[in-house]
Amino acid sequence: MKSQQTKSTVLLHHHLKALRLPTMLRECEKIASVCSHDNIDHLGFLLKLCELELIDREKRSTERRLKAAQFPQHKTLDDFDFSAQPSLNRVLISELLRGEYIDRREVIILIGNPGTGKTHIATALGLAACHQGRRVRFYRVTELVTQLMEAREERQLLKLKKQLGKWDVLILDELGYVPTSKVGAELLFDVISTAYERQSVIVTTNLPFEQWTEVLGSERLTGAVLDRLTHRCHILEATGPSYRLQDAQRRREQPAKPKPPE
Ligand code: ADP
Ligand code: MG
Repeated sequence: MKSQQTKSTVLLHHHLKALRLPTMLRECEKIASVCSHDNIDHLGFLLKLCELELIDREKRSTERRLKAAQFPQHKTLDDFDFSAQPSLNRVLISELLRGEYIDRREVIILIGNPGTGKTHIATALGLAACHQGRRVRFYRVTELVTQLMEAREERQLLKLKKQLGKWDVLILDELGYVPTSKVGAELLFDVISTAYERQSVIVTTNLPFEQWTEVLGSERLTGAVLDRLTHRCHILEATGPSYRLQDAQRRREQPAKPKPPE
């Protein structure tokens, strides 16, 4: 009996592995003994195992999506102090966090001076989307433009564009810090045009719309980009001071308490 049991256990482990059910593989013996102790029948046992596998599978795929998104930092709205940036529409941001804008392929533009939390909010929205099962990719615009130019030189542009098309949400962070070259601006425009009405795009920028021509180089291109981005778009404007500066100031005003004597 004992050797029979061992044989079937070995086979079961093999089959669960072949079927790619790692949680069932890990938990089957433990759950079997719990179920026999609690008088749970075979179907109940199988149900418990399936539930565990499903929960773990969801967790693993969320982790994969979070990794693929390549967020620069882990930031959520729980860490965001709205009182420091009262111009931001908190109600709208909470609504956007639910992710329905992604189904509607809408655009979000975050405008404000450096340090006003634009990247923080874009990341928080992206993180929430990953947890909702969406495929998200965070790019700094300069990084994306470099990749596009390299791909073009290596005749891999089509491949890269195909990859870019698979994301539900494309985050383009810091449009406007570095003026892009003419080719770079055109490649970027191409990505935005392709994304238009197919994907959601979140753009952060420190430039008011009037100055976008300086980055994109030509008025024609800027007009075309703005036309696409601002159609079906949510604009969030942070007009307050830099959080970094405020934070540094607070620290200076409230020096760290001296340590009590030991
Ligand atoms: P921006 O992209 O607008 O330049 P960031 O989002 O990079 O600004 O913000 C700079 C730093 O300050 C980040 O560490 C961010 O988490 C933090 N920060 C900015 N605004 C807030 C805020 N209102 N509450 C909490 N942290 C903030
Ligand atoms: Mg930023």
